[in-house]
Amino acid sequence: MQTAHTLDMLRKEVARLRADGSTFGLVPTMGALHEGHLTLVRRAREVCDHVAASIFVNPAQFGPNEDLDAYPRQLEADAAMLKAEGCDLLWAPDVTAMYPDGFVTNISVSGVSEGLCGASRPGHFDGVATVVCKLFNQVLPTHAFFGEKDFQQLAVIRAMARDLDLTQPHVHSIIGVPTVREPDGLAMSSRNRYLSDADRAAAATLPRAMKAAIARFEAGDAAAPALAALENELLSAGFVSVDYAVLADSASLVPLAALKGTPARLIVAARIGGTRLIDNMAAG
Ligand code: AMP
Repeated sequence: MQTAHTLDMLRKEVARLRADGSTFGLVPTMGALHEGHLTLVRRAREVCDHVAASIFVNPAQFGPNEDLDAYPRQLEADAAMLKAEGCDLLWAPDVTAMYPDGFVTNISVSGVSEGLCGASRPGHFDGVATVVCKLFNQVLPTHAFFGEKDFQQLAVIRAMARDLDLTQPHVHSIIGVPTVREPDGLAMSSRNRYLSDADRAAAATLPRAMKAAIARFEAGDAAAPALAALENELLSAGFVSVDYAVLADSASLVPLAALKGTPARLIVAARIGGTRLIDNMAAG
């Protein structure tokens, strides 16, 4: 596996890997890799001839009071994991390689980016869309792999790729990969390592309570009382606050008052200790 830290080196490696017209998958990450990320790499290897991963803790998607400085960084360990998975190329730029002096462009996706995390993290999805667009143009993948764990992010990237014509000729396929979970159901996340032992144990209430709410939706209950019960259960288990708990249309992310026979998603963001956890599950 080659590691590129500069755009020049990246372009040389990309040209080499794409020379024979083979398929080329990209797995964008912020590092601190876990089984969720490695599952994306494995999926990319199944689908594509060659695979690149990127590791970049993107300052543009962190708010002023968020965990940019504390975000775990472990490039050497991550590189070893990617190599062991058969990844061909690691793109690991530093902040000045990604955002040189004078950088003034921002990509803003409206609609799907506006509610949910878009409401509680202003500017977050602009930062995501801008960096992912840059990654697509830098790496020129034929396929890109993203986790359903970040369901709204996946919707924002699909909308951006469609609207900016990124799906042809470069990225012709954006592939969503189901969430990988710990044995107790908690969605794997680089941020889970922030949790104290007690909070880590209590965090398993989140997927359990989400499943209970989905059972109520599927039994015909309206969204509001089931979501209120979910919030109460999280707060009783030791969560500090619930940013949102929404039953939404899977495509538009518009909130639903109840299931109506079309694909829906329960999407939740809640805080425990100083850590904000997100999760989502299909409903109906
Ligand atoms: P991150 O490093 O957290 O920005 O995540 C990089 C990619 O890995 C994103 O597409 C995430 O959605 C995906 N990802 C993170 N956690 C998981 C998980 N538990 N299961 C599947 N994909 C994940």
